[in-house]
Amino acid sequence: MEALNSLTLTQELGETCAICNETRVKGIHLYTTFICMKCEQELIHTETSDPKYKEYLIKLKKASAAIKQFQNEGAQ
Ligand SMILES: [Zn+2]
Repeated sequence: MEALNSLTLTQELGETCAICNETRVKGIHLYTTFICMKCEQELIHTETSDPKYKEYLIKLKKASAAIKQFQNEGAQ
């Protein structure tokens, strides 16, 4: 999972994690999806053959679709 290392850290605003749904300050962005540090670590240490990994991917996919929709609607 080397690709995750190049992702930027968030600013100190707090965002909702796409995996655990908790509002966290520290985490990373996968495109527009926020993942907290705890989930990021779990994701990194989860084998791609692990069923949990598939679960993560499903959650991330859902989250990115939801975020895209939100952006398209133009919140402001
Ligand atoms: Zn999380």
